[in-house]
Amino acid sequence: MDLLEYQGKQLFARHRVPVPNGKPARTVPEAVDAADAIGCPCVVKAQVKIGGRGKAGGIKLATSRSQAEQHAQTILGMDIRGLTVSELLVEEASEIVDEYYASVIFDRSAKAALVMLSTKGGVEIEAVAAQDPDAIARLHVDPLLGFQAFHGRRLAFEAGVATDVVAPVGSMLAQLYETFVQEEATLVEVNPMIVTPGREVKALDAKVTLDSSALFRHPENAQLRDPSAEDPQERMAAERGLTYVKLGGDIGILGNGAGLVMSTLDLVEQAGGEPANFLDAGGGSKAEAIAAAVEVILSAPNIKAVLFNIFGGITRCDEVAKGLIEAFARLAPQVPFVVRLDGTNDEQGRLLLAQASLPGVHAESTMDGAAAKVVALAAAVRSATLPEAGRSP
Ligand code: GDP
Ligand code: MN
Repeated sequence: MDLLEYQGKQLFARHRVPVPNGKPARTVPEAVDAADAIGCPCVVKAQVKIGGRGKAGGIKLATSRSQAEQHAQTILGMDIRGLTVSELLVEEASEIVDEYYASVIFDRSAKAALVMLSTKGGVEIEAVAAQDPDAIARLHVDPLLGFQAFHGRRLAFEAGVATDVVAPVGSMLAQLYETFVQEEATLVEVNPMIVTPGREVKALDAKVTLDSSALFRHPENAQLRDPSAEDPQERMAAERGLTYVKLGGDIGILGNGAGLVMSTLDLVEQAGGEPANFLDAGGGSKAEAIAAAVEVILSAPNIKAVLFNIFGGITRCDEVAKGLIEAFARLAPQVPFVVRLDGTNDEQGRLLLAQASLPGVHAESTMDGAAAKVVALAAAVRSATLPEAGRSP
């Protein structure tokens, strides 16, 4: 679960990570009240779960109360790379001498948390990593030893931060690591970490991702969940108890079992298609669950074709067929389906589908054949809809 900047900063404050004084606001009057409480100059910052807000005009400095009001008016409702701003953070303005970058992530290949620090902050760290990888100091944390103050100082030295701020930068890293561990985050990123003219070190931005599976241990963090900001398909799937991950393509995928779904994604890619999602209907799915899964897949815009890849074990292929028939009765899909049923009750399943003769449903007997078929059907749908796409501006 991604947090908004101000929520991340609230977690930071809990762990003694220095942050500028600030207040969230949802309306213009609330923003003005916040500016009054904080004093001017202040910064009005759009709260959206995406970076690059500064460049997009979502961060503005106000030197007076009326300017704060004006900025709040402008930024609320603004579109930042597809996200609408509905919350603001009004924060005391900071003077900046240096901008650093700091983060804590979980490095799965090393099976350890990784703390990173760079003096090249305030820009996209991916660009720094690509052009100048040595500019990022890195340290894997031994979970038994933890992240000690000397680790922080070592990283600060390696990154080449100004000598007089080695200690405060090092201790901020230790507090960020504490935040990461105690709040069960999967990402804590500060870009920029700033040095002020008074040589204070502060987190000017906060990007925190919490482990959603651990939220039950953190009821106060669980309250930060904002269903309206979540991806509509992922929310719909979660409500139906399905494991669904949105991907970039236009071929809907349904399988039973994570391994089968993942190999289905690979096969579709190899056949030249792009999967729109990962959807694991799970073991033993009943017709109702299958129909619900079809509903989730089709609710994504842009779907050109759907592939069902079922290997029946505890899942019975006849139940899957019934689910598909139910989904067709309810939703009347307009895109082709390719269905491969193998395993428990596959013959009954195929028979049910043949009897129902659903429009646009193609049976395939192998995974490879099914992948090739769905890619071809999607391509046909795509080229059929192309002229229309060409007409729109
Ligand atoms: P992002 O663009 O979404 O990553 O938002 P940030 O919070 O990182 O802000 C972007 C940039 O705006 C920072 O790198 C700073 O250069 C600038 N900025 C943000 N807040 C302040 C502030 O209080 N004072 C000054 N001088 N610059 C700021
Ligand atoms: Mn930033």
